[in-house]
Amino acid sequence: MMETDVCIVGAGPVGLFAVFELGLLRLKAHVMDTLPVVGGQLAEIYPRKPIYDIPGYPSILAGDLVDRLMEQIAPFHPSFGLGQKVRGLEAVEGGRWLVSSENGDQVLAGAVVIAGGLGCFEPRKPDLVGLEALEGRGVTYMIRDPQAFRGRKVVLAGGGDSALDWTLQLVDVAEELTLVHRSSAFRGAPESAARVQALADSGRLRLLTSTSLLSLQANGDGWLEAVLVQTQGQETLSLVADDLIPLYGLTPQLGPIADWGLALDASAIQVNTETYQTSVPGIFAIGDINTYPGKLKLILSGFHEAALMAHGAYRYIHGGAKPSFKYTTVTGVKGL
Ligand SMILES: Cc1cc2nc3c(=O)[nH]c(=O)nc-3n(C[C@H](O)[C@H](O)[C@H](O)COP(=O)(O)OP(=O)(O)OC[C@H]3O[C@@H](n4cnc5c(N)ncnc54)[C@H](O)[C@@H]3O)c2cc1C
Repeated sequence: MMETDVCIVGAGPVGLFAVFELGLLRLKAHVMDTLPVVGGQLAEIYPRKPIYDIPGYPSILAGDLVDRLMEQIAPFHPSFGLGQKVRGLEAVEGGRWLVSSENGDQVLAGAVVIAGGLGCFEPRKPDLVGLEALEGRGVTYMIRDPQAFRGRKVVLAGGGDSALDWTLQLVDVAEELTLVHRSSAFRGAPESAARVQALADSGRLRLLTSTSLLSLQANGDGWLEAVLVQTQGQETLSLVADDLIPLYGLTPQLGPIADWGLALDASAIQVNTETYQTSVPGIFAIGDINTYPGKLKLILSGFHEAALMAHGAYRYIHGGAKPSFKYTTVTGVKGL
């Protein structure tokens, strides 16, 4: 069994930055994640998409931000348990916690930080006969590398930010791109919707609104060949397709964290905004997984929460003693 000051559940951007903030207070962290790689949503959903609202970076690819965070926390030598779904959380003597994973790994920690984001990733799927047989054979729910779609005939489906953003990214990559949306209005950012509409007007992509996915057609080898769609009041249309990417969002699945006895609001963990501690002393929750009045699910907000959490965790571990607060320009970054 390994021992650490703080066990962080979730290696998304917020869990990673928490290592830094804890490290500044001389607290050592062990980070666990179900995924085999660090980066959370940034690695799993949109590694090649630019982000524009990280302070100091006018634009940075999500994957590059993860690399920068890993570089920033390196001096604190965090340990990682990747490919480890955390299942159990048990109080032990001295106010400490025993964290255990499905694989049987155990970590004894002075405090626990839940940075589990959306929980375990479960994409919402369209209700289509034969869908599962074509998953990985033309049907996919996450775009890791847009270049994988170069020169292909791609049908995207959805009307939120993800569908609009990926349409704008894939328009220069795919040989043929169609966006199918069941409603006439988009839920995503109006600015992105306007850009998609302008591209459709100029003939760069096919935009089918008020259109439903009807069925899928496979070729003799069992790979996707065509997607049948229907626009309201019109004939059925067969779209030749190498790829169908339904982007209907992710169902938040708290997974095992839901059974840890923490106060929840829908599927998010309630916290106080002074320390980001949950209803259970010694357990903190930061990033997309928590909720409080005014919560914004942004990386920026998660970074702020990590700083306050670190001070709260320090006080919990040191019997209420306050850490001394100094700017990093004064202290520098002293490795652990
Ligand atoms: C398409 C898209 C574009 C976005 N663009 C922006 C943007 O431009 N700017 C911005 O600020 N935000 C953006 N966001 C939101 C941003 O990605 C999230 O706010 C951010 O990822 C939250 O980070 P996190 O570390 O809290 O959670 P996550 O990134 O979700 O990471 C949580 C990690 O916890 C792990 N985990 C969960 N449960 C367990 C468990 N039981 N055991 C082990 N591991 C577990 C998960 O596997 C995951 O790796 C975007 C989101 C999407 C989907």
